[in-house]
This record gives sequence, C-alpha cells and structure tokens, in this order.
Amino acid sequence: MQVSRQKIVVLGTGGTIAGTSAQPGDNIGYTAAQVGVEQLLGAVPGLEQAAGGARLLAEQVAQIDSKDMDMPVWQALALRCAGLLQDPEVQGVVITHGTDTLEETAWFLHLVLDTRAKPVVLTCAMRPASALTPDGPQNLLDAVAVAATPGACGVVSVAAGEVHGARHVQKVHPYRVNAFGSGDAGPLGWVEEGHVRLTQNWPPALDEKAPIAIEKIANSAAWPRVEIILNHAGASGAMVDALVRDGVQGLVVACTGNGTVHHALEAALIKAQDVGVRVVRSTRCPEGQVLPKPGDALPDSQGLSPVKARITLMLDLLAQ
Ligand code: ASP
Repeated sequence: MQVSRQKIVVLGTGGTIAGTSAQPGDNIGYTAAQVGVEQLLGAVPGLEQAAGGARLLAEQVAQIDSKDMDMPVWQALALRCAGLLQDPEVQGVVITHGTDTLEETAWFLHLVLDTRAKPVVLTCAMRPASALTPDGPQNLLDAVAVAATPGACGVVSVAAGEVHGARHVQKVHPYRVNAFGSGDAGPLGWVEEGHVRLTQNWPPALDEKAPIAIEKIANSAAWPRVEIILNHAGASGAMVDALVRDGVQGLVVACTGNGTVHHALEAALIKAQDVGVRVVRSTRCPEGQVLPKPGDALPDSQGLSPVKARITLMLDLLAQ
C-alpha cells in the first residue's frame, strides 16, 4: 500500500534568519536566534503553496547563533531528523540554521542520516528578520519548494536561489546575501519562482557509515576530540605537542597548497601519529583538493575541507 506523504517539517535552530536588530537598517549589529520558527513561517506568504499540498509543521530544536554550534545540538538535531525521515507521512525536512557553521551541520547530517528517499534542506539568511529587506523569507520559501520537489533527496542547502550539496557547500563571504559556493564543483542547481532547476543530480544520499553513526550518536555522552591546525609561514609544532599532551585523539591540518606542511609542524605531526593520534591533511585553498602522492607520511582528507574532514574523523573515531 502506498502511503501519501503529507508533511514537511521545519526544524528551527536559530541563526541570523531568526535574528533581530534594534535598527531596521542594521544588517550586522543584530542578535541572532531571537524569533521562533513558527513565527518565521508565519511571516512568509505563499509557503503553503510552495509546500505543494503538504502540511507545514514547525519545531524548535535549538535557538542559537550557529557560531556556537555544539555536539549536544547536533545530537538532538540528528536524532529528530532520523525520526522524521522514518515517518511515512513526512515528505522532507527543512532546517533553519545560522550561516556560519551551516556547511558543518550539512556534512554531519549527510554522514549520519539515510536521505535516499527524502531530502533534508538547510536554509539560512545573511540579514536578520528585522532588516529592511530580509533574505530569510525568500530562502525559506525556496527551501520548502525544494523539500516538496518530487525525487528530491540528500542533504542540501538553499540560499540566494542556489542549491548546494552537503559535500561541497561552503560559506565564502562574510556579508553579501549570496554567501555560499561549492568551489569548482559549482551549485547543484537553482530555485526559480518555486521551481527547481538542477544541473547536477541530487547528491548521493547514503554514506556507508550512516546506520552505525546514528546509533553511536544516540548513545554517546562524549565525542572524540579532534582539533584543526593551520599551516602558515613560520608554523611550528608547539600547538601539536601541547594538544597531544592534552589528550587530543585526532588532528586535521589545513595545509598550504597541495597538502604541504612546514617541516617543523610536519615533524610534530608525524610524532603525534606515531603515538596513535589520527592525523589528516586537508588544504586551506578554497578550491580543489589535496592530491595524494606515493610515500605520503600523512593521509589526505579525500577532498574534504578542514572543517568537514574534522567531522568525518570524529565520526570515524566514534565508530571505533
Ligand atoms: N552568526 C550567525 C549564525 O551563524 C550568522 C548567520 O546566521 O548569518 O548564526
């Protein structure tokens, strides 16, 4: 028997999309995470129509500035998404989120959820809800349109009319409304007047680690400690040595260029790896990825940016 899908659920987590400032013209001096998700939905005309007949439901999972995103919120969000994705009446999930760490939450959810049949759509805003011309309402409308699109799947982000996949999406600008990009991969497509036009397929929607990870996440009080180190002119091994002494379990290096590391930092990283710390090399270049060479002493992040490589490594360590 086929069950008709009837609900799109919007989960609120805060961010600028829910922010307010004292002066309507002030797009930077605002406080994020002030307006409830129900109220945000109520301020968007045409949302029911964008949902294509599905009922829209709102739930507040968190109310934070996403610069403060942390593991307990990720845990609550992932578990709620997993429950909703299993509900036969749910067509898709939309998450309102801050822009600062949206790409990290997207990648985390990609790794832990089975989104083969239904999409999880993150959306956000660069201007607060109280702005003269807020971008949140249009982004929310577009995100709901994506969630209601037949065949949509995977974890994606929607902002400024662009659809990006979890693997490549990155915040690339601190101010402009169109703040996201996917580097040389480009966006998956666009939302135009409520219609989705894709130039790539929906993203792959099940990571091989997904079912293990969600179970581990439900039962984990503490997460493995993985830190990010930056290579730069004059870099030393001092921070690595201090972190190893402090019990770090994993280190991701935002290397220069094609995974290169200052010799002093490299020596400390190899020493850390030798005592059991997992070390992964990513690149601080905003586009492209580290290309491995035979004989590399430290493994590469397989195309993941430093912040996403950190999440993958944390989940790897959690699964062990
Ligand atoms: N600091 C805000 C946040 O990430 C920025 C934003 O949403 O645009 O929650």
